[in-house]
Amino acid sequence: MLSTPPATPPLSILMYHQIGLYPRPKAHRALFCHIGRFRQQLAYLKYTGFRVLSLEEARQCLFEGRPLPQRSVVITVDDGFDDFREHAWPALQEYGFPATVFLVSSLIGKNAAWLQDRPQQSRLMDAASIRRLHQEGCHFGSHAMSHPRLTQLTAAQQRQEIFGSKQALEDLLGAEVPDFCYPYGDYNAQVRDLVQEAGYRTGLTCIRGAANTAHNPFELPRKAISYGDNLIGYAWKLHMKHKRKDGQ
Ligand SMILES: [Zn+2]
Repeated sequence: MLSTPPATPPLSILMYHQIGLYPRPKAHRALFCHIGRFRQQLAYLKYTGFRVLSLEEARQCLFEGRPLPQRSVVITVDDGFDDFREHAWPALQEYGFPATVFLVSSLIGKNAAWLQDRPQQSRLMDAASIRRLHQEGCHFGSHAMSHPRLTQLTAAQQRQEIFGSKQALEDLLGAEVPDFCYPYGDYNAQVRDLVQEAGYRTGLTCIRGAANTAHNPFELPRKAISYGDNLIGYAWKLHMKHKRKDGQ
């Protein structure tokens, strides 16, 4: 009888942006999640036996031989909107689930200035809130200084965005900031190598797929959870292993 090697369980890194009391958006649906749905998703993870890993645990499972639980997931939230403090973090705390929020270091406590096509700009968390959540166990990573498309910058500007945001956030938190998330998922080999050179340990992309398909820790795929994802759509994304290259 042929024996097949044990399947590598898919490890999903979920990507959220704004989580709150949002009506159905007309555009940018992948950027919004209603807090009611978010809570259902956390409940689903709990009752179906998922382990919610920190990014650090995930990195060790993917690249350092730490055993990967059969069902595991990582929760990431881009941009650091103030609604995270108000809605998502209290829900995560109820379940005892870790999460990593990626901050834009020069816009702490300001509006999301890069979203110029929105009639109303959303507020980003301020320094005091970030420090309080950090003390409560929330993880924070860098999303660059100004949320630029990094591949369109000069090498000097790239270096400033990648190194400068790490320094600024480490000063703010008094702790190491080991994770970087490419704004717009925009990166190339030069950007990726700068992230590594700056001393980060992971780089998160917007490539769709399970994290197991990553070739190195600086090109981690994720799965965007969209406003329209009901529990069936959510569960399908959790269990999907392959990469999909379609844009959203
Ligand atoms: Zn972003």
